[in-house]
Amino acid sequence: QARQRYLTSLYYASDLDSHDPAQIAVIGELRNAIDRNQLCLHYQPKIDLTSGEVTGVEALVRWQSPQHGLLYPDKFIPFAEQTDLINPLTYWVVHTATRQVFAWKQRGLDLELSVNISVRNLQNPRLSSEILALARDAGIPLERLFLEVTESAIMTDPFHAIDVLGRLRDVGIRLSLDDFGIGQSSLSYLKNLPFNRLKIDKAFVMDLEEPSNQVIVQGVIAIAHGLGLSVTAEGIEDQEMLERVAGYGCDYGQGYHISKPMPAEQIPDWITRRRR
Ligand code: C2E
Ligand code: CA
Ligand code: CA
Ligand code: CA
Repeated sequence: QARQRYLTSLYYASDLDSHDPAQIAVIGELRNAIDRNQLCLHYQPKIDLTSGEVTGVEALVRWQSPQHGLLYPDKFIPFAEQTDLINPLTYWVVHTATRQVFAWKQRGLDLELSVNISVRNLQNPRLSSEILALARDAGIPLERLFLEVTESAIMTDPFHAIDVLGRLRDVGIRLSLDDFGIGQSSLSYLKNLPFNRLKIDKAFVMDLEEPSNQVIVQGVIAIAHGLGLSVTAEGIEDQEMLERVAGYGCDYGQGYHISKPMPAEQIPDWITRRRR
């Protein structure tokens, strides 16, 4: 009840950047999508590149729209980010994913959870208390929860980002710097911001034939390790890429070669088959 009131208040507090009717229509549909249970999460496994063990999953949102079919986040997250809709959306994602991870835990699967956080979420003064409450209610230890934040989210307002991320980190939530290398990267973020992990963008990983990308990826891994961060490589699409990044000492890997994102119910069987 209280949560519903809160979500409703956010919906109407939204401020549109555009008066484009098509955009307003999509935002209106998306607003309803949360209440009508049209959003769903797919989970992409992440493995430890040394042991091959599955260590966690990243939650990736999809929208099953009656009008437009299955929509991928690139089609609607930008709209949500232009309004306060991204706040109830992220709330829904964290709520749903933490409960799912607890359900897996009860079946004997202990998985780390990564969720994506937008710049606008960092401007929500309740972000850390909400996430804290959701993790506690779901029975997920905070150190099993990773928030993936992009460089562009930090760039928008670095001082504010340092403050908010610092508070999240202080309560024990882990932070991962997402899409590293493709934005307006600055090495000073790695030094000054409280990240635990760095995620090398798939643009570098997918094109590891290219010698300059090999140098960049090896260099990024060395810098991250030197600063005490662990490293995930995303976008691993074949065995050769997997062996290369593992050979460079990268800690974790994600990508279609390991597994595509999949519905929650497929995760336990997938892990069982992999262990065999
Ligand atoms: P991301 O966080 O960089 O996530 C990785 C994207 O790459 C995902 O696309 C994933 O399905 C895809 N991917 C994974 N492995 C491979 C691979 O081997 N090859 C290729 N070509 N692609 C791979 P997806 O699910 O379409 O998500 C796109 C972006 O949407 C994400 O990029 C993230 O920035 C955003 N996003 C997804 N879910 C959420 C969410 O719940 N909240 C927010 N704020 N953003 C989200
Ligand atoms: Ca991500
Ligand atoms: Ca990426
Ligand atoms: Ca991204």
